[in-house]
Amino acid sequence: AKTSRRGGYEYFTRSMGVEIRERVMLMHALRAAFEHERLFLVYQPQVDMRTGKALGAEALLRWRTDEGKFVPPDQFIPIAEYSGLIVDIGEWVLRSALHELVALRNMGYTTFQMAINVSQAQFSHPLFMQTLHKALQDTSAPPQFVELEITESMAMKDPDLLIKTLHQIKQLGVSVSIDDFGTGFSSLSHLQKLDVDKLKIDRAFVNDIQQNGSEGSIAKMIVQLGQNLGLSVIAEGVENDMQAKTLMDYGCHMAQGYFYARPLTQQDLHDWLKAGP
Ligand code: C2E
Ligand code: CA
Ligand code: CA
Ligand code: CA
Repeated sequence: AKTSRRGGYEYFTRSMGVEIRERVMLMHALRAAFEHERLFLVYQPQVDMRTGKALGAEALLRWRTDEGKFVPPDQFIPIAEYSGLIVDIGEWVLRSALHELVALRNMGYTTFQMAINVSQAQFSHPLFMQTLHKALQDTSAPPQFVELEITESMAMKDPDLLIKTLHQIKQLGVSVSIDDFGTGFSSLSHLQKLDVDKLKIDRAFVNDIQQNGSEGSIAKMIVQLGQNLGLSVIAEGVENDMQAKTLMDYGCHMAQGYFYARPLTQQDLHDWLKAGP
């Protein structure tokens, strides 16, 4: 029993050590990748389900290693946040996405909206508003076609700072959506106080539509909540026709998901837009 316990303990510490070492290695690799411009953006179209027409896109970060391997954002974004790298990377994401927005406008897509993810560490950084303001100025991107995606959990960390920052964002003319809505348990009274424009239904609830049918689904409740609060609602992770039809029955007309388009490289986005609905 003694040896097996010790064995277990050794195994435990060894695996912990590897985990931390791996995290540190990944952090260094990420910094190097950022410096060597190995990060790039892809754009997933957002459409009006009634017509299939593109309304805009969400910018999503990609990391391709020197060996040609893709590291999923779910793996490296937390490391970027934890190490503080997200502040610089996030500014680069912001500027690149705004740059692409302007390019699309110059191509004639003058109503195209660009949605950009902003993480907690960026948002609560004292220079965030300055960074946003300067990025808009430097790229001449029109603020009314820019949307920032924040998460519900951010709404709970520091409510006063959030309310103040949201107000400042509004004043710039930029809109805000709550990403992964329904997964963060923010209270409704709280939501009402927040100056946001849109709720983004998390794909878990879109996925649930299939299993539970149309009655009493959380997706339906979120659509109704949005309507009651005067907010737009978009569904993410729409993968099939049935989900699209059901969401439209609920009164949700905006969507993003594989059923319409995958995240696309810049060139593929241009081709996709040219092909039209
Ligand atoms: P998210 O903001 O919820 O982004 C949506 C994710 O769902 C994307 O994964 C997208 O590729 C995926 N997706 C879209 N449609 C479908 C669908 O129909 N089915 C399924 N199964 N998945 C779909 P991705 O690109 O791997 O991004 C994962 C997460 O990484 C994002 O979740 C976001 O939280 C974070 N992220 C990505 N780019 C950035 C960024 O530039 N900044 C920050 N702060 N976070 C980012
Ligand atoms: Ca998002
Ligand atoms: Ca999301
Ligand atoms: Ca999500």
